[in-house]
Amino acid sequence: MFEKILIANRGEIALRIQRACREMGIKTVAVHSEADADAKYVKLADESVCIGPAQSTLSYLHVPSIISAAEVTDAEAIHPGYGFLSENADFAERVEQSGFVFIGPRPETIRLMGDKVSAKDAMKASGVPCVPGSEGALSDDSDEIIRTAQDVGYPVIIKAAGGGGGRGMRVVHTEAALLNAVSMTKNEAQTAFGNPVVYMEKFLENPRHIEIQVLADEHGNAAFLGERDCSMQRRHQKIIEEAPAPGLDPKLRDKIGERCAEACRKIGYRGAGTFEFLYENGEFFFIEMNTRVQVEHPVTEMITGIDIVQEQIRIAAGLKLSFKQKDVQLKGHSIECRINAEDPYTFVPSPGRITVYHVPGGPGIRVDSHVYQNYVVPQYYDSMVGKLIAYGATREQAIARMKTALSEMVIEGIKTNIPLHQDLMRDAAFVAGGTSIHYLEHKLAAAKAKPQ
Ligand code: ADP
Repeated sequence: MFEKILIANRGEIALRIQRACREMGIKTVAVHSEADADAKYVKLADESVCIGPAQSTLSYLHVPSIISAAEVTDAEAIHPGYGFLSENADFAERVEQSGFVFIGPRPETIRLMGDKVSAKDAMKASGVPCVPGSEGALSDDSDEIIRTAQDVGYPVIIKAAGGGGGRGMRVVHTEAALLNAVSMTKNEAQTAFGNPVVYMEKFLENPRHIEIQVLADEHGNAAFLGERDCSMQRRHQKIIEEAPAPGLDPKLRDKIGERCAEACRKIGYRGAGTFEFLYENGEFFFIEMNTRVQVEHPVTEMITGIDIVQEQIRIAAGLKLSFKQKDVQLKGHSIECRINAEDPYTFVPSPGRITVYHVPGGPGIRVDSHVYQNYVVPQYYDSMVGKLIAYGATREQAIARMKTALSEMVIEGIKTNIPLHQDLMRDAAFVAGGTSIHYLEHKLAAAKAKPQ
């Protein structure tokens, strides 16, 4: 096992990884920007290194600074968390070339899955069902684009091969709008991701977002840890996640889960990963694979009892998975609310000092957050200040506990989306379970249209 790990991230996930390391007796190195110098998890780490100014391109995304921090502190492995460099194949390669272990998949795998066109091709070849659409990338030929859309059937969605974070997508309802939409998405993709390649998919009108968590080691063992339902989204960004997915037939789960585990064995996958699917009318359609730990991993941990971050570390150290597929028993229900520093209804970010902070507790409540009273939420990064996770024997109990926890949670000085979560926990469609990915947008639009 490693003696020292460098955590190339910030915020709640840096703290989450630090806690996993501490439990395993591994020392940690926190790297931080000037804006995060006072963060508690930086002080709690065994060592810390300032890697640059607040702007993430000069710090958390600055590969040479991170590699030199690992060199000066003699860290053996680097955990990238999520976001930032976690899915950057060049970074993973540089880490390995510099003699450190990258806690994640091989660089080739990250590259394969990072391009959504090649990812879909690999999945099709491994027998994973995909959303119908163009065969690979869209050509430059206008007639061919028009023909492809006719074959797929409107509405279609144009997506950037290098896209991520819910960006680089455009829905097209009519042929008249098609070519313009393709060229606009290409231009945006070039600017945002440095890759103009786009592809086409059928735009599913009423799907749910259901994803499968996998873990695979270097000895050919791969297992799936059930699924998560992440359909509660705004602008393609998840707000609430839960496990298991309400009402999903366990036989269907096992079938798709086994396909994912088999795909991992076929492509020689290593580490934690998530296969994201759209689910409609009893069918799963692959959209992309994330080759890292996800924000929403705790709900899976709550219902399986498996520590996903510790498994990632064990796998990177060359050990076998600590369990077998038959040991994975899904028990109870878990829900996660992402707490963001933003106005609950306009969604305008609200950085600043937290003047009052009270965390909820009690049976089945877990809070993954790096913030505390007097902490200043910096304006430079993602607005998530923490995750409130509730566990219950049943979904009803998880919702009831989440409601109590939300009412106990006090964050003053900044605005948060806690009121929105409270609203959603009372929402009849959410309570019934199984809402589609468009539900929240429609609900917000309807609320806006209603006269005050
Ligand atoms: P990203 O990498 O940016 O997260 P994804 O491909 O995972 O992009 O898609 C993000 C979200 O966009 C999905 O959860 C879903 O809400 C929506 N989406 C993507 N593809 C489709 C599609 N073919 N039909 C309908 N919605 C889609």
